Amino acid sequence: MQLDPLTLMIPAIIATGFAGLLLFGAWFYSNRSQALLWWGAANSFNAAGIALIAAGLFMQHPILTAVGVGITTFAPAMFWGGARQFNNASTPTLILMAGFAAWLIMVAFPFGLDNQRWSTVASLVAWSIYLPAAIWELWRSRREALAARWPLMGFLAVHALVYIGATIETIAYSPLLNQPPALTSWFGIIHFETTLFVMGSAFCMVLICKERIVQGYMEAARVDPLTGTANRAAFFERAARLCQRCREQQAPFSLIMFDLDRFKLINDTFGHQVGDRILRDFADTVRLSLRPNDLFGRYGGEEFLVVLPGASIETAYVIAERVRSVFASGNASIEGKSIPATVSAGVTSTHTDIPLGAMIEAADQAMYSAKRAGRNRVERAIIEDPAGDSKVVRIA
Ligand code: GH3
Ligand code: MG
Ligand code: MG
Repeated sequence: MQLDPLTLMIPAIIATGFAGLLLFGAWFYSNRSQALLWWGAANSFNAAGIALIAAGLFMQHPILTAVGVGITTFAPAMFWGGARQFNNASTPTLILMAGFAAWLIMVAFPFGLDNQRWSTVASLVAWSIYLPAAIWELWRSRREALAARWPLMGFLAVHALVYIGATIETIAYSPLLNQPPALTSWFGIIHFETTLFVMGSAFCMVLICKERIVQGYMEAARVDPLTGTANRAAFFERAARLCQRCREQQAPFSLIMFDLDRFKLINDTFGHQVGDRILRDFADTVRLSLRPNDLFGRYGGEEFLVVLPGASIETAYVIAERVRSVFASGNASIEGKSIPATVSAGVTSTHTDIPLGAMIEAADQAMYSAKRAGRNRVERAIIEDPAGDSKVVRIA
């Protein structure tokens, strides 16, 4: 069987066109990621450009081929722009147009050079720069753990390599530009690699955008929307894991329960919105006092829990006391009236196999003891009989 380069351009055009449609379709149905739109446009430009190149070569019409090369030059810029959109970064129009401008300059003012050859070089250089720039964008945001990122970067890297090779080849030798690159040349790989690239990269881009959306939903299902802390379900799931790890390492494990004082009165006096703001302020205050491994969650309306793995009861007490005093001294005011927002806390700790539920109960008792003692206080609960059925909680 004979493989004819010009015939091979047909599946490349079809694959590129379909990749564009796939990306537009994914954008339409998810309607979220602008990156899909940019990559859809990149593939459409590329498909149109390759089609014009093929038509020009077939009809031996150099102008048509040159225009096709010019149109394909938009594609890598848009791949780069899409990768920037994915990172929520803006795309400077000047940089976006630079590749096409370079091609146009070499067509119109070739500085005495062969304009067909050097405008093609300008286009190849654009691909060789924009594609690595797109890889760099994806690399930059690698902290966001998305599995499809790595194959996507791989597809871009292979494609970039083909174009870098083609650039060197076109500068070093003088290939015949009135026919498609020979299958035996470096750039000849493009006949096979294009199909792989357009399908693989489009598929991975759709996947990576979907992954981000799913992760967003999963995160939303675990976070309390008002305070940004872990919600009850997420808190208990993570707390159980931390509890287990501390047990294995025989490390202490402390828990603080916070309950805002007379919060119903604050709502009744200042309104629910002010109450919400105070809840957010309180969550910010707690976050500033915690270490990266500590866990903070909303237990109920104005009740919060903090798990401090590896912390003794003394350390937990100091942290709770710091939160209490910072929160009490940072009272907000509304129309000149200060809002008397304070918090009471109960602290407990364990070195042994006490279940989390029993620790919450103990911290709750300590917290109610703080309420009874006048509020805006921290009390400690010492669990004294962990092995027995009836645990004795002593309030210290
Ligand atoms: P105590 O000092 O004994 O804890 O008194 P309290 O008023 O804080 O306790 P109570 O349990 O009677 O009231 C809790 C209030 O918290 C009642 C509820 O309206 C309010 N609350 C719960 N969730 C929210 C919320 O998301 N936003 C606002 N603004 N208020 C909330
Ligand atoms: Mg309460
Ligand atoms: Mg309360």
